[in-house]
Amino acid sequence: MLRIDNLSFWEKSAYLKNLDFLIIGSGIVGLSTAIFLKKRFKNSRVLVIERGYLPTGASTKNAGFTCFGSPTELYDDLKTIKDSVVWDTFSNRYNGLNTLFELVSQDNIEYQNCKSWDIIASNEKNEITIDFIDYINKKAFEITGHKNIYCEDSSISNRFGFQGIETSYCNTLEGSIHTGKLIQQLYKQAINHDVNVIFGIEALKMTSNENENIIETPFGEIKTINTIIATNGFAKNWIKEDILPARAQVLITNEIPDLKIRGTFHFDKGYYYFRNVGNRVLLGGGRNLDVLGETTEEFGLSNQIQLQLKNLLENVILPSNSFKIEDSWSGIMGVGKTKSPIIKKINNNTAIGVRMGGMGVAIGSQVGKKLADLF
Ligand SMILES: Cc1cc2nc3c(=O)[nH]c(=O)nc-3n(C[C@H](O)[C@H](O)[C@H](O)COP(=O)(O)OP(=O)(O)OC[C@H]3O[C@@H](n4cnc5c(N)ncnc54)[C@H](O)[C@@H]3O)c2cc1C
Repeated sequence: MLRIDNLSFWEKSAYLKNLDFLIIGSGIVGLSTAIFLKKRFKNSRVLVIERGYLPTGASTKNAGFTCFGSPTELYDDLKTIKDSVVWDTFSNRYNGLNTLFELVSQDNIEYQNCKSWDIIASNEKNEITIDFIDYINKKAFEITGHKNIYCEDSSISNRFGFQGIETSYCNTLEGSIHTGKLIQQLYKQAINHDVNVIFGIEALKMTSNENENIIETPFGEIKTINTIIATNGFAKNWIKEDILPARAQVLITNEIPDLKIRGTFHFDKGYYYFRNVGNRVLLGGGRNLDVLGETTEEFGLSNQIQLQLKNLLENVILPSNSFKIEDSWSGIMGVGKTKSPIIKKINNNTAIGVRMGGMGVAIGSQVGKKLADLF
């Protein structure tokens, strides 16, 4: 193993010397922070270090929904959380998507304004009323400037071939992206802004003094003036705050030639989510079946959740299609008791931006911007 001390003069001076900012983690937040730092401090030296050979958390593994507020989530949140907090969260997500689209072009990440539907099963109690839809349309208009983004749609079973579904509520502004291409594009933007990214190097520990931080890695130490921790679900070693890892499992089918489904869908109050990816169906969720078991930093699949996902495909989503499950995977999110991210300085020259929950596509870039603005 070649230690940092034994690197060449050229390697040290090109990558590691005189760092103004070192970012730990190359997910949506880490890469966005790097880009915004370079926009803010043009001549600064910014390095991102990532422990995996690819980003290894949630940003390359998620479902690719550009979601910011579904009616059943808003309904539940408004029952338990102050109205102003619920609409602030909504606003942060909506505006966060606009920040993302300032960084990357929609075409390059295969963005589709395909809409989303919040599905209500026949055996589920439907608490959403016309008055509630009017109310959220009014509030959403104040934030987005778009009229009537929500409406009831009871035609989805006929249109998409679902079984056991009573009705649905459509959000006409939500859509989908290609998750892998988003990270590729952010990476390209970072490189274009003269950021260095090194993969396969894990930050183990940090010590700080007034002028610099020293990051310990398996290859030796890296010195930097400032540090940004963007390790999301893996942040609990770095701060004593309300943050836990939360594994989420996903599967994808083979190509189904006569697939009718087009769009993104939330089911069972958002515990499940699915979409089409071309002629495939991607389905995820079911963490609520084993919250304790899924509170883990370990990637992996459980029989219980994979079987339930398959069951949903067979009985609700694709009751009339034959299909195969072609691939399954998991990712690790960072969650806490509240839905808001942690964005703050933990000492004079260190900031942290974590706890993106299931909304990092929407809020990740905006969090990166806020982190850069802390310096
Ligand atoms: C299955 C799944 C589906 C999801 N679906 C959606 C969706 O449809 N829409 C949506 O908005 N959000 C979704 N999310 C959530 C979203 O993906 C996350 O909120 C977002 O990716 C978080 O980005 P991040 O940069 O904060 O964290 P991450 O992408 O997890 O990045 C953190 C990085 O830090 C690295 N790291 C950790 N520790 C260290 C260390 N010590 N040294 C160096 N590197 C380290 C990790 O390897 C990782 O690459 C989903 C998540 C999952 C798992």
